[in-house]
Amino acid sequence: MSRKDAVPPEMALAVFQRDLGCVAPRLGGTMHDCWGRNRIEHVKAEPRMGKRAEPRMDRLVTLCQGHSEDGMKGGYVWATDKENREKCREYLRSVSA
Ligand SMILES: [Zn+2]
Repeated sequence: MSRKDAVPPEMALAVFQRDLGCVAPRLGGTMHDCWGRNRIEHVKAEPRMGKRAEPRMDRLVTLCQGHSEDGMKGGYVWATDKENREKCREYLRSVSA
């Protein structure tokens, strides 16, 4: 855990408890694509920011492997789809308001 953008374990736990599972099916993804372990996905505040999102509750969502990079299908990854990114941001705005 020496990387600067690493999520502290307490914060990861808090994100998992807030989201209660992969958020993708609630944001237009399908349950059928959910598989593997749930993990923390960084959502940048601005799409063009070069750096990864800082470890903050309102920049982190829970996604399963199927909806993040491990679940790539024909070059498509749910989590990196532009529209889905925006849905994740909206979700974070709604839960951190
Ligand atoms: Zn999922």
